[in-house]
Amino acid sequence: MTPKSLIARLALLAGLFPLHAAADPSFDACLVGLRDQAQGRGVGTETFDLHTHGLEPDLAVVGFLDYQPEFRTPIWDYLAGAVDEERVADGKGLLREWAPTLQAIEAQFGVDPATVVAVWGVESNFGHNFGKRPLVTSLATLSCFGRRQDFFRGEFFTALKILEEGHVDAARLAGSWAGAFGHTQFMPSTFTRVAVDFDGDGRRDLIGSIPDALASTANFLAKAGWNPDQVWGYEVAIPDGLDAALIGRRNKRPVSEWAALGVTRLDGSPLGDNAAPAGLLLPAGDPGPAFLVLRNFDALHSYNASESYALAIAHLSDRLRGAGNFVTPWPTDDPPLSRAERRELQTLLAGRGYRIGEIDGIIGSATREAVLDVQQRYGFEADGRAGAKLLEQLRHDAIPSAPSPDTASPDTTSPATAPATASP
Ligand code: CA
Repeated sequence: MTPKSLIARLALLAGLFPLHAAADPSFDACLVGLRDQAQGRGVGTETFDLHTHGLEPDLAVVGFLDYQPEFRTPIWDYLAGAVDEERVADGKGLLREWAPTLQAIEAQFGVDPATVVAVWGVESNFGHNFGKRPLVTSLATLSCFGRRQDFFRGEFFTALKILEEGHVDAARLAGSWAGAFGHTQFMPSTFTRVAVDFDGDGRRDLIGSIPDALASTANFLAKAGWNPDQVWGYEVAIPDGLDAALIGRRNKRPVSEWAALGVTRLDGSPLGDNAAPAGLLLPAGDPGPAFLVLRNFDALHSYNASESYALAIAHLSDRLRGAGNFVTPWPTDDPPLSRAERRELQTLLAGRGYRIGEIDGIIGSATREAVLDVQQRYGFEADGRAGAKLLEQLRHDAIPSAPSPDTASPDTTSPATAPATASP
């Protein structure tokens, strides 16, 4: 676009949207450029105008793009947050409620009900947490600012195309800062690739239709190589002195070789399919729980490129099938808190005057700030982590610590939460 036509278009915009005068002119100019590309990207100009009229950028999402978590979450805390007794109970209830749908999904895609429901639980807490940021706003902003604009432009136009085709209600198209949406948090491009209409109404509605969302997840895993005849893996015991070079999810060798090396299942059952390629995963190093992971673990990993994430889905699916917690303890003397304990911690902190927002059992930024403050007052290591030791201290220490008046705003969702399938 020549500068002259840009100026003409900006003048046109100013005339069209007089109330928009305070908006970021560079965003408006960017939108004008995107509008020019719309038809070439398969999106009608009317659709573009309808959904971008008066749009203001949400610059917070650009910050999340470069966000480096101040505190690294230990895997035992991550798993305690993703897989807890309440989530297992909720998931078991939903397995019963949606049994006929889940059976039909398994018949078509070959992915079992517990695995599908486990993804649902970790991705959106079974539809209770879709993310609240309007998708078109986030994706338009990321198309115009920050790193990876090309990637997000693709997602932006795809989101508009999803709206144009009427798959989801525009007013409900909200999600994570990066643009993942619906019950199982698909990016728009993932939607295009694998979303299916399973309830037969002609729309692929991952927000309004649980059957569509769950079947789309099963389709994702099937396309990622899910093998209905195999498990994801299982917890194992490893012999002393096992060569550390053998460790790693990608370092696959047949199960029979692991057996020959002295790896055994902790529940005493045989390792199983001897020819299946498996990797040895030690998420917290040695000592700590160890797992043999098969190809299905890689399919879970492709949903969201994180071994902790894949292990959370895998573990929740086992819990939904009736299994217990891992046998081997995590290598920490300060165990993670359950959801009920996290609520108790938040209540105790609120009782000491900390502003932590809703008592929801989710450790967000404000709870973490309060934790840091009390850690410093008690002489704990100030790492922002809320474990059993700190809860015990708060339960029994009657000294109310008045926080500084500027301690934290109410909790916000941690931007560290990885967007599902966001990686291009
Ligand atoms: Ca549908």
